Amino acid sequence: MNSALYNKAIQCPVCQKQIEITKLKASACKVASRDTDFCVYYQDLNPMFYEVWVCEFCGYAALSEKFEEIRESDAGTIKDQISTRWNKRGFAGERNIDHAIEAFKLALFNLQVRKAKPNEFARVCLRIAWLYRIKKDEKEKDFLNFALKYYRETYEKENLPIEKLDEFTCMYIIGELNRRVGDYEEAVKWFSRLIGSQEARKNASLMDSAREQFRLVKEQMEKR
Ligand SMILES: [Zn+2]
Repeated sequence: MNSALYNKAIQCPVCQKQIEITKLKASACKVASRDTDFCVYYQDLNPMFYEVWVCEFCGYAALSEKFEEIRESDAGTIKDQISTRWNKRGFAGERNIDHAIEAFKLALFNLQVRKAKPNEFARVCLRIAWLYRIKKDEKEKDFLNFALKYYRETYEKENLPIEKLDEFTCMYIIGELNRRVGDYEEAVKWFSRLIGSQEARKNASLMDSAREQFRLVKEQMEKR
């Protein structure tokens, strides 16, 4: 295993068995660049590949920071609907991009079974889109569309902020995802709303990005 990676033993909150999960040392995460929808590229190993933890025994999978906070009723649903059909397989150790995508898709399946909130789907779908982008696979667009649908639902139905996602960042992501899937009119609508908001001006770097992407989408519309 790459020396920047290490394993840690934790207890699965669904089946209670001891499992090994793999983490990437923070010192090994060197940012190379960022995309306008917040996808980050790294010089060496990408920590996103390790963001989903999977229990090899019961098939429970979730984002690492959410892994241990599962409700008892959801754990029961996972046991009934996933564990009964799960073939034991491990996800510890170094992951290539296909393993990372598989882990994220398991996390997505767990969210579906648990009937999770839109913000959780949004986050996982956007990361799957980024992984397909890194892989240069056109399935990226399918997952950008799924992410867009869930960010809109998050904006409309949930109380923001949720963790790091505030109302304005959510508006920006909706604008930018619309631009990326080619719905330029919608992109303009969301960027304009954001740029026109007095309160959003407190986040200067987000406003700069919104203005820049607004200018870009206008340019794209002219070329069409
Ligand atoms: Zn388990």
